[in-house]
Amino acid sequence: MIEIICPKCKIPMPGNKCVNPKCGHATISSYTIYWCEECNVPIFEKECPSCGKEGEYIATDLRPVFPEERLLLSIIKENL
Ligand SMILES: [Zn+2]
Ligand SMILES: [Zn+2]
Repeated sequence: MIEIICPKCKIPMPGNKCVNPKCGHATISSYTIYWCEECNVPIFEKECPSCGKEGEYIATDLRPVFPEERLLLSIIKENL
């Protein structure tokens, strides 16, 4: 799962800053990676998009969001 979250509040955020006025922390991207044993591929959703099997949790990767990436994420979210 790819989400933009506030690292302090630990909740998904729509923009580049936390919506909580008391927080206002810059958001980061959170990549949750799973592994599908059926297809032997890493997946970003809990359910494999090709076989529908539940993937095995591997890791959550937190990192700052770059402007290009934010644009990409907003495109991905629009298409979901
Ligand atoms: Zn926050
Ligand atoms: Zn699969």
